[in-house]
Amino acid sequence: MKEVINEQNINKILEKTISPSPDVVKKILEKALKKEGLTLQETGYLLNTEDEELIGKMFQTSNKIKDEIYGERLVLFAPFYVSNFCVNDCKYCGFHCSNPEKRKKLTLEEVKDQVKILERMGHKRLLLEFGEDPAENPINYIVDVIKTIYNTKVGNGEIRRVNVNIAAATVEDYKKLKEAGIGTYQLFQETYHQETYKEVHKGPKSDYERQLFAHDRAMQAGLNDVGLGVLFGLYNYKFEVLALLSHSEYLEKKYNVGPHTISVPRFQPAATVNTNFPHEVSEDQLLKIISILRMAVPYTGLIITTREKPETRAKAFDIGISQTSAASSTSPGGYGKEKALEQFSLQDSRDMDQILKSILNQNLLPSYCTACYRLNRTGETIMKLIKTGKIHELCRPNAILTFKEYLEDYASQDVKELGVKVIQKYLEKISDDQIKKKTLAKLKRIENGERDLYF
Ligand code: SAM
Ligand code: SF4
Repeated sequence: MKEVINEQNINKILEKTISPSPDVVKKILEKALKKEGLTLQETGYLLNTEDEELIGKMFQTSNKIKDEIYGERLVLFAPFYVSNFCVNDCKYCGFHCSNPEKRKKLTLEEVKDQVKILERMGHKRLLLEFGEDPAENPINYIVDVIKTIYNTKVGNGEIRRVNVNIAAATVEDYKKLKEAGIGTYQLFQETYHQETYKEVHKGPKSDYERQLFAHDRAMQAGLNDVGLGVLFGLYNYKFEVLALLSHSEYLEKKYNVGPHTISVPRFQPAATVNTNFPHEVSEDQLLKIISILRMAVPYTGLIITTREKPETRAKAFDIGISQTSAASSTSPGGYGKEKALEQFSLQDSRDMDQILKSILNQNLLPSYCTACYRLNRTGETIMKLIKTGKIHELCRPNAILTFKEYLEDYASQDVKELGVKVIQKYLEKISDDQIKKKTLAKLKRIENGERDLYF
């Protein structure tokens, strides 16, 4: 286990890097601009930087890196809660089994209804969420749900990528997810600090190693896009960031591909949950975390959700985030009228229209692209493309084309007007003339009713 997380080592780094001089920090920021990532020690220095001016410089640096690698694009998805049955008693979660509230799992008919609603909102990418309950949510049910989602289409709507966030499973079960055609398998360690992990978990999830090596088992089953995360608020954020990066380095070394994404959820109030966690992370600290992660693992997608309020999200988009949820619910059935117990409350309750307007006003381009995964550009292949910078020439046109579909099929007049301008702005930035020509031709075809055109 020490190969993945060495607590002593992490603590030593945090002690050794305390109060760095401005010169040390500036040198690290210069190195970060090379987009080769940072060592744990360099990251430690940045985590231990408290000076506001230097933190401002960090934000400028991570903004530049984000711009160079991800450009103006912001990939949108919605979480889709299917079942809140759970046998674990995680202290932070509204679904914990000692919450006596009635539970709900969707029938396949209800799954179809929810998916139709999500498609009418314009979503193309979902993140499935289940509590852990082998009797209520067995793998075959999860697979049936995935198949139902891919087969449910309304109007021009369809879900093109289903990512999955289920409890740590076996290689055999992960193979079933692979066969069902999932995109990313996401699982958070919640806290990498073993003692805290033990304190906050009861039930099968209390097995720290089962959780820690879940991504290995997923990789062994052929799921090579995996997502990591911690739940900020449970333990010291500086420790957690170094642990996350240490886990990421381990995966990269062992499988030649690091995590596809890292998520930065912060603890939010939930029914019957005691909110008194001693390591609350402030908004400023969250932004610092995002900025540092952007510099430390420049090629890993960073995800922020509607757990955060609109203003925080807007700042986070600038300094490092590449994917975000929009217009979400954390309750099974939550997109319809019959809401069940929700997992936690959300700070961003805006609808799709409002979220898109604010993204466009920030001069960002909403993307519903799912091309890479459908063309098998995953794992090592996609990482190579990203690292050579060639991905820009694919992602920008694909973001334009998928957003154009949104404008044609679902947008309000306001979003259309703003969206057309933003599309035009970034069309002009496509540097390869051939690709620009082809993009323009595809845009025409979309106007004429064709869908799902990509590079
Ligand atoms: N049950 C699976 C598991 O625990 O891995 C699936 C994921 S769970 C539905 C999604 C994630 O929500 C958890 O991994 C946890 O990090 C996060 N979460 C739980 N309670 C939360 C809360 N009160 N505030 C914010 N995020 C929370
Ligand atoms: Fe269950 Fe996951 Fe919530 Fe824990 S975090 S109680 S495993 S749904």
